[in-house]
Amino acid sequence: MKDLAIQKNVSLQDRHTFGLPWKSRFFVELEKEEQIAGLLNFAKSKELPVLILGGGSNMLPTETYKGLVIQNKLTGREVIKETKTFSLLQVAAGEDWHKLVLWTIKNEMFGLENMSLIPGTVGGAVVQNIGAYDVDIQRFIYSVTAYSLNTGKKKVFTRDECKFEYRNSIFKSSDLWVVTSVILKLSKKFKPVLTYKPLQILQSSTSELTAKEVSREVIKIRRSKLPDWNRVGTAGSFFANPRVSKTKARRLQKLYPEMPLFYNYGSTKATIPAGWLIEHSSLSEKNRKEFLYHKHALIIVNKEKGGDVSITKGKRTVAVVERIQSKVSQGFGIDLRPEVRIF
Ligand SMILES: Cc1cc2nc3c(=O)[nH]c(=O)nc-3n(C[C@H](O)[C@H](O)[C@H](O)COP(=O)(O)OP(=O)(O)OC[C@H]3O[C@@H](n4cnc5c(N)ncnc54)[C@H](O)[C@@H]3O)c2cc1C
Repeated sequence: MKDLAIQKNVSLQDRHTFGLPWKSRFFVELEKEEQIAGLLNFAKSKELPVLILGGGSNMLPTETYKGLVIQNKLTGREVIKETKTFSLLQVAAGEDWHKLVLWTIKNEMFGLENMSLIPGTVGGAVVQNIGAYDVDIQRFIYSVTAYSLNTGKKKVFTRDECKFEYRNSIFKSSDLWVVTSVILKLSKKFKPVLTYKPLQILQSSTSELTAKEVSREVIKIRRSKLPDWNRVGTAGSFFANPRVSKTKARRLQKLYPEMPLFYNYGSTKATIPAGWLIEHSSLSEKNRKEFLYHKHALIIVNKEKGGDVSITKGKRTVAVVERIQSKVSQGFGIDLRPEVRIF
């Protein structure tokens, strides 16, 4: 245990963005892939469950974790292939996502700019298949390397094998892997994606638009809309936007003509903003004030972050999450699926 640098009874309060006094029975920072076998043996010998932690920006803890938390701190970036049109960039999964985005722009590798300022690690980004402003990470994935938590064996996944879906992947749904690195295929030519309405202001730019300008605008929009997770506890959007059949969407729109609907290109389903459903649900004013971010009902917050807050706040938050699900289900016949992992 000493050789592996495993610590006992460690506070994870500063290692996740919701800011609760969360603890783990055993904790270790993963700095080298070679540690993985020993850590898995340690967990097996003590019959401990294992939780992989990235930046902790997509988690809601409710009690002490009774197993081994492995926080991914693997770092490294390397361009492994370059052609006239694209670069293959290998990145360790513990790298900070936003810093990576800024670095790619500086080094003229394009595509990630709409996903600027999303908190967390590169590994977490793959697991969650992050996305923002009409771009998601899956389209840049060339391959993903991960180790099985069962056997300790390494596997390289092609993009298809990752089974990416909206805010989901094989890694999120199976919980059987630790992602250690990713190869991204990035373009040498910048092609802005400005389909998200607030970004369309950039279309009127008189000079040729740069990736840096798009990234800057994304950062500006996000800062104006989202809470600063350094001050307010949050895990970002709590629920995925539900997708319903066109028939159901039409029926709902007859009842609620002001309800926004989106049809993703090529999809047979309609997307309804979960935030709108929560805003128009019968959730009590008291719950709204305590748990919802005032600028966006989809963001559940811990306003006591940094203050005298108990871990029971996690359980109370889950109770409100379930209340929201039940109110939206009763009101609209729609099931909301949490994006955030609850532990
Ligand atoms: C203010 C704010 C804004 C956000 N905005 C967005 C947004 O615009 N779009 C979006 O998609 N998300 C958004 N998020 C959610 C979150 O930032 C992303 O899901 C992020 O990619 C999570 O990465 P992480 O490293 O923090 O993962 P964690 O929260 O540490 O982990 C999340 C899950 O991934 C697993 N995991 C993490 N790393 C690994 C690994 N290496 N191997 C295997 N499993 C792993 C964990 O076990 C857990 O199940 C936002 C969150 C916040 C707080």
